Amino acid sequence: MTIPENLISTNLAAILARIQTARKAAFKPAPYTHLVAVSKTVDEAGIRQALDAGQRLFGENRVQEAEKKFPVLKSDYPDLELHLIGPLQTNKVKEAMALFSCIETLDRQKLADALALGRDKSGACPKLFVQVNTGEEPQKAGVMPADTAALVAYAQNLNLPVTGLMCIPPADQEPAPHFGFLAKLARDNGLDQLSMGMSGDFEMAIRFGATHVRVGTAIFGARI
Ligand SMILES: *Cc1c(COP(=O)(O)O)cnc(C)c1O
Repeated sequence: MTIPENLISTNLAAILARIQTARKAAFKPAPYTHLVAVSKTVDEAGIRQALDAGQRLFGENRVQEAEKKFPVLKSDYPDLELHLIGPLQTNKVKEAMALFSCIETLDRQKLADALALGRDKSGACPKLFVQVNTGEEPQKAGVMPADTAALVAYAQNLNLPVTGLMCIPPADQEPAPHFGFLAKLARDNGLDQLSMGMSGDFEMAIRFGATHVRVGTAIFGARI
């Protein structure tokens, strides 16, 4: 799909404006709200349009897809930052640690062990968010709410840089209670960062203190 010239920069400007408006309207917004432009399925030309418009933070949900698109873009734009927002298999940890500045989907001890091992070998570790399955959906990734504190403690005991929580509310439910719940869980665990909110609900997430909103289709158009 070819994306019409200027559409992405127009969309980006509109989303950034909506983020600022939502922050102003929020009773107690987070100190900042970063826009993670979700570029899964978007080709390199589309991502370059966003880069030309000044966007530097992107999210991808598959390591393999990101590995195809981003090494060149990262060398052209050294300040580009990439977040992993999809599930991570332990056999892809090494590649993920090299490519992503933040992995938002830590959801089990085995993955924490693999990240600690990778950190020991490479000397560096991306920032980490623990993904919480706030809707307790059986098919969905993420740690169960009741097991979140234990996983955060486990990762922190390995000296892994856990800085926040992430959630994807069930598609068929009001997102607000999930955002409020994630915010409380983060406070209870002494974590400052909250990745929540997508194209359809990022303004609501900002009301509940989102530091990172993950927006794809509202910037790049519908995925086909
Ligand atoms: C695809 C995706 C998004 C972006 O969703 P949109 O509705 O296109 O904004 C956000 N978060 C995750 C984890 C995703 O996989």
